[in-house]
Formats: sequence, structure tokens, C-alpha cells
Amino acid sequence: MPALNPTDRDRDLDLHWAARAIDLARQADYATSPNPMVGAVVLDADGLRAGEGFHRQAGSPHAEEEALAAAGERSRGGTLYVNLEPCAHEHRSPSCAQAAIDAGLRRVVVSMSDPDERVRGAGLAMLESAGIEISVGLLEDRARKLNEFYIKHRLTGRPFVTAKFAMSLDGKIATRTGESRWITGEESRAHAHSLRHAHDAILVGVNTVIADDPELTVRVNGDRSRQPLRVVVDSQLRIRQSAKIVGANTLIATTKPGRVGAAEILRLPAAADGRVSLPALLDELGNRGMLSLLVEGGAEVHASFFAEGLVDKVFAYVAPRLIGGKEAPGPLAGNGVDHLVASTQLRELDFARLGDDLMITGYIDVHRDR
Ligand SMILES: [Zn+2]
Repeated sequence: MPALNPTDRDRDLDLHWAARAIDLARQADYATSPNPMVGAVVLDADGLRAGEGFHRQAGSPHAEEEALAAAGERSRGGTLYVNLEPCAHEHRSPSCAQAAIDAGLRRVVVSMSDPDERVRGAGLAMLESAGIEISVGLLEDRARKLNEFYIKHRLTGRPFVTAKFAMSLDGKIATRTGESRWITGEESRAHAHSLRHAHDAILVGVNTVIADDPELTVRVNGDRSRQPLRVVVDSQLRIRQSAKIVGANTLIATTKPGRVGAAEILRLPAAADGRVSLPALLDELGNRGMLSLLVEGGAEVHASFFAEGLVDKVFAYVAPRLIGGKEAPGPLAGNGVDHLVASTQLRELDFARLGDDLMITGYIDVHRDR
């Protein structure tokens, strides 16, 4: 009786090409938003690479289209590797599931199904009903991590929220006189800058704007083309017209009417404490197709996001430096919790050394008992 399971060699090849598809997807470097990052490889009937491609940005061809076009006639009887389920809806051209069928592929290997409500298994169903052999779930963890912003957005309608802070070893984000530049070293700051580049929007509280007057623009290798939306939480509309952050690419979330230079004023309902409702703000950003939001503080803003259970991931940069002082602030203000059992616990931890600093990252289980 012939073996029904693929041999180890077949599985190694599948892993190799599925990993290649993820690497290709990553080359888009977050420029695809509000679309996912997708890479695709087509092997011909002899198992040789015939074409590959990735989705570069919204409006440009899908990864499968690029790979199938590159492979041409060699797609017939071949295999497609792609990190996300092929789409089932027509965009400017037929769906990728239809394109795979038309190309005469024999087999499609998909790392994860697409949570977008227009797909959700419809692409796989199309392939299957056309008699194409499908395999789903290879390297799924890696594929999910690659598109964690997109997945959160499609499942909840809100952006993935990353909270970032830099502090001394004794947990201070500034001295008692307010000096904070720079607690961490150059490598940490460069990494934090790359985080801005990855996110669709960056958020700070108005106190940070008043104290530090940040511009929050992004340069990566001299490229300033993709700028995240700058969001200021300013419940009482205290920001000055002359603040560097006030400009065309700025959204001021407030409960008050008013005008501030070229910035967009977004009036939102007030929460019980009179401040801007953060869930309402996240809903609005999600409606605008923002897949991700980087919350840079200050301490009151961080405290509010954590207290309301709105943070998905934390990046903490810890410098080997002691500041001390009861009045020197920590990364979270607010009232904090009374008991450890109520504290926010990170999971899936990662520790990296950046110069002399330590970077700690972790996810927050939003489904934890509160
Ligand atoms: Zn597609």
C-alpha cells in the first residue's frame, strides 16, 4: 500500500518553500497596509522554482499574481506556496484563487487562512472544488506573527496596539526635573525608530507634546515617504499651534471643539473620567484602515491604555542606569493596581541586548480574567 503521508524529504521541501514565501512577504516592510504582507513561490511540475513574488503595497499586484506571471506556462501541474490563503474576491483582476485554478496548478500550500470577512475559507473552498490539492497550516505561527497587525484589525476592527517605553534599571522614564534624553543608548533609539516605521499610526499624550515637543517623523535609510499618522490625545485641547507635531499628517483626539493649524480635529465622546474615550479612538482608527498603533506615552496615556486592557504588545528598553527619586516618573502613572493578581502579565517573552541596554518584548493576553 503506498504511503499516504508525504515523505520527510517532501516535508522538508514544503518547509523550505513555505519559509521562502514568508521571507518574500516580509520584503514589503509593512508598506502593504491596509492589506496583509504576502509572498508566493511557484514550483513547476518537476519541483523547480518557476516564479516568485510578493505584494508590495496596496493597489499593486497580489503576491500570487506576481509569482504566477513570472512562472507563466511552467505553472501547469505545479505547486504554489503562499503564507496567506489566496483571495476569493475580485479586485482589479480575477481573484488569486481563480488565477491559481486558471494556471493549472496541481497543489497549493497555505500557511494560514485569511481572517478577512471577504475570504475566511472561500479561497480554499474554490481551490478544493476545482480539484486542487491543498495543504493548510505549515509554519502557521510564523505566518500569524508576520501579519499580527492585519489579523487583529480584521478580527476586531481595531488596530493592533503596541506600547513602547524606555526606562532606567530602577524604572524611571525621566529624572525628577523631567530630563529624559537620553536614558537609553543609540541602538535602543534606532530600534524604537524602526518600530515607528512599522506602525500605521503613532500616539502620544498632550503632556508629552508640551514637555518634549516631539515631531514624530520617520526616516529609514533617508526615506521619509511612508509617514505614520501622528495622533495626539488631548482631551481638553491644550496643544499649542506652534507645536512641531502640528501639521497635515496629525490627528488630535479631543472632547472639545476647535482648530489647531493644519491638524485634523477628531471629536470623540468622553469617558467617565472626562478624557477621550480610547476605545472610540481605536474604533475610528480601525475604520480608517489603520492596522497598527504605536503608543509612545507619556505615563498617563500608557496607564490608561493598560488599565483599559487595550494593549496587545509591549516593547520595553531598559538601560543599566539608576536615577532614583520618589518624584521621578515611571512608565505608567494613574492609580495602578491594589493587588498583584490584578497586574498586567506579559507572555511569549523575548529578551534582546541592544548595545548596553536590554529590550524586553511580550504580548498581553487580552482575554485574561480581570
Ligand atoms: Zn489575491
